[in-house]
Amino acid sequence: MAYDLLIKNGRVVDGSGEPAFSADVAVQDGKIVGVGKSNGAAAKRTIDAGGRVVAPGFIDHHTHFDPQAVWDPYCGSWLHNGHTTVIVGQCGQVIAPVRPGDSEWYLEFFSDAEQIPLPVLKAGVDVTWESVGDYLNALGKKRGINVGTLIGHSGIRRYVMGEAAAEREAKPEELAAMQRLIREAMVDGALGFSTAPKDRGDPAGVPDDAERWALASVLGELGTGVFQVAGGAPGGTKATRAVARELAARTGRPSIYNLMSDPVGNPDEWVEHLRWLEDGFNAGSTSRRTRTSPVRKASSAACRPGTTSWRGPMRSGCAPSAIPRSARRCRPRRSRARSSSRAA
Ligand SMILES: [Zn+2]
Repeated sequence: MAYDLLIKNGRVVDGSGEPAFSADVAVQDGKIVGVGKSNGAAAKRTIDAGGRVVAPGFIDHHTHFDPQAVWDPYCGSWLHNGHTTVIVGQCGQVIAPVRPGDSEWYLEFFSDAEQIPLPVLKAGVDVTWESVGDYLNALGKKRGINVGTLIGHSGIRRYVMGEAAAEREAKPEELAAMQRLIREAMVDGALGFSTAPKDRGDPAGVPDDAERWALASVLGELGTGVFQVAGGAPGGTKATRAVARELAARTGRPSIYNLMSDPVGNPDEWVEHLRWLEDGFNAGSTSRRTRTSPVRKASSAACRPGTTSWRGPMRSGCAPSAIPRSARRCRPRRSRARSSSRAA
């Protein structure tokens, strides 16, 4: 049998966290079916990757390509840099759900926050959708790079409350409507929910935390999805990471917070982050590991695409059918503790 594609002589970085190793990669019917020594196996197409790295496509888990992905299937240079998947809907900022006739508010939000000229957004984005599911369908009509989306807190507030989204707390019926939207969007394929700490200056930053916990409970009930919490609130990232940890603790779902927000006046804040994460890992090692290890969970999710379908007929050398096992046999294994600290 000839493989569809054989990538030979590359240095494989498989996303598992193990060191790189030399191997050939065989592809059949769009899936990786073997990693190891191909020993002269035939292929319809062969690529010599000598001197190059062979790796799964990178996942950029924080982008604001929500509008651009509509008109640009490759999201600019992201694909050229090795990304094959981007996640949008970050920081509570989205372009769905949107009520008919209200799309300009969403585009202005992106224009202000991402410094994209409004005429560019208007020229590139024809808002034909209303729900998050409709938006995903619109993206699917012109797709290059893969796109996943979170449900944005500011967006659903705007959808339910209109102008009041930027002014006041939600009424009980409005809160219930937002919960309904989150549930529907998750069923339609959204990956989770994004929000921002109080006082961030956008609709997601208006309510007290009680609203965040109430909305987050939907993911807890569904038992799926991830949270993302924006930075940018007064006081640096303290509120951001506190919200992230509380969301994870309350729901059991993984949570990601914006880390790269160190103020110029406090360039050593990263030390504080690492200490905080370490405390979380230590706490998680007892009774609530998955609830208090937000970043580790996020990292492992990003690695998943590289650790599936690594089975095939190549069984010679140091690469039997399952690469993770061969990696353990041929190379010293890194301790779990070290892997965790790297992930942080
Ligand atoms: Zn963001």
